[in-house]
Amino acid sequence: MAVDLKGKVALVTGASGGLGEHFARLLTANGAAVAVTARRVEKIQALADDLNAHGGNAIALALDVADAHAIAPAMDKVVAELGGLDILVNNAGIGGEGLALDISIEDFDQTFAVNVRGLFFAAREAARRMIAAGVEGRIVNIASIASHTVLPGLSAYCGSKAAVAMLTKSLAREWARKGIAVNALAPGYIETAINDAWWPTEGGQKQLKGFPRRRLMDATDLDEAFLLMAGPAARAMTGSLITVDDGQSLPGGG
Ligand code: NAP
Repeated sequence: MAVDLKGKVALVTGASGGLGEHFARLLTANGAAVAVTARRVEKIQALADDLNAHGGNAIALALDVADAHAIAPAMDKVVAELGGLDILVNNAGIGGEGLALDISIEDFDQTFAVNVRGLFFAAREAARRMIAAGVEGRIVNIASIASHTVLPGLSAYCGSKAAVAMLTKSLAREWARKGIAVNALAPGYIETAINDAWWPTEGGQKQLKGFPRRRLMDATDLDEAFLLMAGPAARAMTGSLITVDDGQSLPGGG
């Protein structure tokens, strides 16, 4: 599936690797100008350079979404340098690992600061600029199967991703007549830095063998659903959560 995103400007949070980098490449391949943001500046600068070397129009911008006050100035820079903002991909996220009995207060807070608070304020700042410019905006929140399925040992992460699912609906309702479609994509497990230390372990292998298809997904498995949400086809779709998980949230075993 290809969509025409020529003339559109997108901002991707957490684009320094993993799914965020993948979405930035996909948006570029479909014609959008892209602001790639994250904390690790050398990574996003290398990505922007690579996108520009292959016909893209990308800028790299340092943005720690846990610093909510940094979000508005970053968006102003994007609008100034790329000429607007049409698509926000709220992708930045952390795993919040740790049993409920063990996780530190600081790790819990950081999980919500990135996965929930950062996502909310990025959505708000993007919406303010989309509404002011009168554009048909798109906000794609990267949720997870953890939005609706218990992942054992990841209660902080599950709570944060459930919040992403409900924020998606609430914001979609609030901005329904403002021309902004707010949707969420809930992927199953894809090997990235967020989880790559887990899969080779005994527990990881056991979990993998419990998936109905006994495999991890590939980032490209998300492309069609992502482009549906980021592109013109989302005109009449808002407040939706699409799970693309290779059946991983179905009962396992068997
Ligand atoms: P990843 O490879 O670890 O990437 C996470 C990204 O988030 C990095 O680019 C990181 O960049 C960024 N990030 C972390 N803290 C940040 C902060 N304070 N401010 C801004 N950016 C921050 O993980 P991933 O798998 O690509 O995850 C991307 C999203 O997909 C997350 O929301 C995750 O929950 C979701 N997801 C992943 C999977 C999966 O199986 N991989 C499944 C479902 C959902 P810096 O460190 O440079 O800031």
